[in-house]
Parts: sequence; C-alpha cells; structure tokens
Amino acid sequence: MEKLFNFINGNFVPPNSSKYMDVFEPATGQPYARVSDSNSADVETAYESAQNAFENWSGLSVEERAVYLIKIADGLESRLEEFSEYESRDTGKPISLAKSVDIPRAVSNFRFFAEYGQSYNFESELINSQSINKIRRSPLGVVACISPWNLPLYLFSWKIAPALIAGNTVVAKPSEITPYTAYKLGEICKDAGLPPGVLNIIHGQGNTAGDALVSHPKIKAISFTGGTATGKLIAEKTASSFKKLSLEMGGKNPAVIFANCDFDKMMGIVVRSSFSNQGQICLCSSRILVEESIYEKFKAEFVLRVSELNVGDPSKIETQFGALSSHGHFKKVLSYIEIAKQEGGNILTGGNAKKINGRCESGWFVEPTVIDGLDNSCRTNQEEIFGPLVTLQSFQSEEHAVQIANETEYGLSATIWTEEDEKANRVSSKIDAGVIWVNCWLVRDLRTPFGGMKQSGLGREGGDEALRFFTEPKNICTIR
Ligand code: NAD
Repeated sequence: MEKLFNFINGNFVPPNSSKYMDVFEPATGQPYARVSDSNSADVETAYESAQNAFENWSGLSVEERAVYLIKIADGLESRLEEFSEYESRDTGKPISLAKSVDIPRAVSNFRFFAEYGQSYNFESELINSQSINKIRRSPLGVVACISPWNLPLYLFSWKIAPALIAGNTVVAKPSEITPYTAYKLGEICKDAGLPPGVLNIIHGQGNTAGDALVSHPKIKAISFTGGTATGKLIAEKTASSFKKLSLEMGGKNPAVIFANCDFDKMMGIVVRSSFSNQGQICLCSSRILVEESIYEKFKAEFVLRVSELNVGDPSKIETQFGALSSHGHFKKVLSYIEIAKQEGGNILTGGNAKKINGRCESGWFVEPTVIDGLDNSCRTNQEEIFGPLVTLQSFQSEEHAVQIANETEYGLSATIWTEEDEKANRVSSKIDAGVIWVNCWLVRDLRTPFGGMKQSGLGREGGDEALRFFTEPKNICTIR
C-alpha cells in the first residue's frame, strides 16, 4: 500500500517513529494507503527546516512570493481531475462536488492571496502635526496550520496561502482522516520550485503531532479549524505562551425561512445547504426554522426533495450524496438519530444506514435524514452532529425566529429567506453569527471576514483578517 510521507525541507521523508496509520476509502470502508504517524521529533525537524527558510522567504518581496503561489495554483489547476478523484476517494464526497468546489477553491485560495497580498498595505503611514508614524506589518516567523477532514485541501490551502504570502514559513498538519491531497500538495510545491522548508507538511494524530505543534515554544501562531472541544484544548495549552490563535470551530446553523420568500428558489438551495457533502460542511444548515403559515407546505416539498437525492458511489458523476468520512463519524451520526428518536423526534425521511450494492456495500453511508417534533432545547438541536441530519421547527413571528436561531452556544453562520429587504436587515442584525447569507448560501467573496462567534470561533479568516493575523504590526514614530 502507498505510504504517505511527511514533506520536510522539500523532501518526502518517513516519520521518525516508522509508524503508519491506515487511510480509508469511506465509500468502501477499506484502507487504501498508510499515512505517517508523526511525533514531536518530526515536528521539530519540520520546525527547524521552516526556521532555516524564514530569512530568505521573508526577505523576498510580496510580488516575488506571489509568483510561487501562482505557480502552485497553476500546478494544482492543471491536475484538477486527478486531485478531485483523490479528494472524493479520501472523503467519500461526490466527485462532482470535489471537482466543482473543493479543488477549484484550493486553486482560488492560492491565486486569491497571491493577488490580494500584492494590494495589501504591509506598510502604511499616519502623519499628524507632531509626528510621522510608519506602521509596518512583518511576518511572525514559523506558524502552524491545522485543518479538519471535511474540506481537506480547501481548508488546508485557505490557511497556508495567507501565511506564505505574508512572509511566514509554515508547518502544516492536515487531518489524519483525510491526508491524501495535502500529501500530494508536496509534489505541486516541488514542481513550483517553492524553496525547501517554506512549507512543511506533517502527518499524524491530533494528540501527538498536533499537540507537538501547539506546544512548540517557538511556533508563533496556530491557525486551527476543527471541533470546538479541540479548539478549547488548544486555547488552554497556549494560554501562557501568548501564541497568536485563530480558531474556526463548530456550528449549529439555522436556516430561517419566512412565508414571503421565493419558495422555489429557497427550496433548491436549502436542500443543498442542508445536505451538501453529506451535511459535513461547518456552514451547513442543521436547524431549519420555518414560518408557521408555510410549515406544512415546506415540510412536504422538502422531505420529497431530500428523499429523491441520489445516494451512492461517490466516484460516479451522477451521485449527489456520498459516504460519511470515517467509521467513527458514521457511528456518531447514527447514534444521534437514536438520540433524536428517544427525544421524541419524528423521522420524516431517512433515519438509517444506507446499503449500496456492489463496490460500496461496506461503505459508511447514512440516509439523508429529516426530523421534526423536537424542541430547540433538546440535544439533537443543541449539539453539533455535522452530518446528514436536519431538524424542522416552526416559528410564529420574527422575534420567535430570532430567539430560536440564537438559542445555541454556537454562532457560525445562518441563512435568511425573505423577499422583504427590511426584514432581512432586521433579522440579520439580530442573529448572532459571523456569516449570514440572505436568499443564498455558500456564496463567498474571499476578501470578506470569515468565521464564527460564541463557541464557533475566535478571530476571522479571509482577506485583511488573515493577513493581519499572520503579521505583527510595529509602529515607528519620529518627530516632525
Ligand atoms: P478535530 O478538532 O477533531 O480535528 C481538527 C484537526 O485538529 C485535525 O487535524 C486533528 O488531527 C487536529 N487535532 C485534534 N486534536 C488536537 C490536539 N489536541 N492538538 C492539536 N491538534 C489537534 O475536528 P474534525 O473532526 O477533523 O473536524 C470537524 C469539526 O471541524 C466540526 O466541528 C466542524 O464544525 C469543524 N469545522 C469548522 C469550520 C469553520 O470554518 N468554522 C470548517 C470546517 C470544519
């Protein structure tokens, strides 16, 4: 079986421990590769290589660094088909999604930050009658990027690209569950001629390799995306070192549907916002709140549309809904369906593991599931399930909708459906979420702040936010 080595100092190297972990294809439930199980010694080697590369890399102009990022974007784009197949095999997501969203977005991340970095003011000046203040934003040094399994290369590159353009060198760790495209990114970097040590990719488990990055005394910042429990651990671990932290964590996102929405347009997008990537996008709608007067109409149409989703082999182009990304997650989602039943929920469609005949008969498939009859305070409506399970609740008024939407410890995203601009403005200002979409979902301008509030996040990514995070400002004041 193929062994996925670490990428350190421009070379693929085996882990210090000589230990590997199975990498599974979720659609078949079978291992197909072995990934390095790295430890603190590997992290140390990666750190040293990044530290050695820092002086030269940070000494380049932004324009010179951008050339490398554009080469990486071009290299990835030229292998889009191949990388889409890797991502689909590794995660269980439909190939159509990997091809239309995951890999194109990874390409855009590199291209966007290459361009945006060149227009960003790393140096600025504030002058008054007394003084001239030169404000310089410098790279931090060696930074760590830690990413999850749901959008592997998409989120990995979303962190790496701004860190690099700002002049940092990076040690990055993808999820051990879906390491394949991050592993292959090493090849792209080599082909792009990225100087050795500028980007180092370490594979391994969270509590070993991840912990070694977080605990490393000289790594200046941690950009993390993953679960809230892990984010808390990282915040605790780094508290006394004052490392810079960007934490993008879980969500329990409401879709708020008013009677005066464009029903047909809303329906198509809410099915997608609920079940894209088998509900495993942090931005997916998991609590669907519908105004009482259209509740029954919504329920009938939504349940019909969801039950018609084409669940099957993710490698087939016609598949709309694939497998869950790991066996542990498959079990977790099924356990939440049981919890929902015990809490008195009505399963309107789905509710079971799904058997797919042929190649995928041992795969980790769960039917897209819709449940109603549950109060917002129950576990099903409060805990992040991060899978193909959504609940429906009705509301009586705008205030009631806002109250239910905010009755959660999370605050990542929300969608609002109404044709009335004033209502959309009022509701979006009252809902506690970092990202709000009105009559759309997952429309992204990469310049905008991205991230959550409450237990969903600390800090923001995207555009200026990311470049501020990955730099340290210094004010140099002289008297006029
Ligand atoms: P996770 O927290 O288990 O793991 C995320 C990453 O952190 C992995 O690379 C993992 O190896 C590493 N890690 C785990 N323990 C660690 C530790 N002690 N120290 C350092 N690193 C550690 O999350 P997951 O299960 O991979 O991903 C699912 C979660 O990610 C969901 O909660 C989802 O909402 C969240 N997510 C959030 C966003 C966002 O932008 N807010 C985007 C995608 C996913």
